[in-house]
Amino acid sequence: MSNDALFEIKDLEVSYGSIAAIKGISLEVHKGEIVTILGANGAGKTTTMRTISQLLKAKSGSIKFKGEELTQLPAHKVVKLGVSQSPEGRRVFGILTVEENLMLGAFVKTKMNKETLDWVYQLFPRLKERRKQLAGTLSGGEQQMLAIGRSLMSDPEMLLLDEPSLGLAPILVKAIFEQIKIISNKGLTVLLVEQNAKAALKLADRGYVLDVGTIALSGTSAELLASEKIQEAYLGKK
Ligand code: ATP
Repeated sequence: MSNDALFEIKDLEVSYGSIAAIKGISLEVHKGEIVTILGANGAGKTTTMRTISQLLKAKSGSIKFKGEELTQLPAHKVVKLGVSQSPEGRRVFGILTVEENLMLGAFVKTKMNKETLDWVYQLFPRLKERRKQLAGTLSGGEQQMLAIGRSLMSDPEMLLLDEPSLGLAPILVKAIFEQIKIISNKGLTVLLVEQNAKAALKLADRGYVLDVGTIALSGTSAELLASEKIQEAYLGKK
């Protein structure tokens, strides 16, 4: 593994049948970093996240967390190792309460960590207020909080966030991104997939730009924000 990377993807290829979605990408994340993967619709962002979590299997290449190869593991082992995903579209269990959803997030633990639950409620007081409410009746922003909270319940070292800003009003995007910063300050490493390039680059240390299954560009957030390519393609400037 190169220098001190906590997490490393090398030459990853993922296909849906004969369609190649990820065509040999490599990237790394260091402990404590917030790294963002940007890209337009269909670039392969969700495919990458689901492959890290082992919900999808790689065609070839390697994905290592703390030196351990993930590609041969079942998905629950990945969570147990310390990598937890908050999926695109939130996917909370609508017929369960907020607290039941959170408890499900701790499924790999022999016992739920009460301190973690308290921390999640401290991060998102709205969830505490609504802990007995059915998740399906929450607003979009609240469901996003719940999805992130649920992924924290397994006490991960690295959090995978797939488009947490999707479908949220700007004020809620700001709030969610502030919470991600707080989570990062607590020592968690964050890999953040986003279409909202501006918000993501303001938050992240570094970024990678995916373009139809390949990495088109990478750099520090400052470099990417200053890049003409990024400004034209993702920040609406000419
Ligand atoms: P979005 O932001 O719209 O979610 P994305 O960057 O996350 O886009 P992916 O969902 O990873 O992109 O899709 C990458 C490519 O793989 C796309 O061309 C998509 O059509 C294809 N794809 C995704 N899921 C499947 C599937 N289940 N079967 C076949 N092709 C798929």
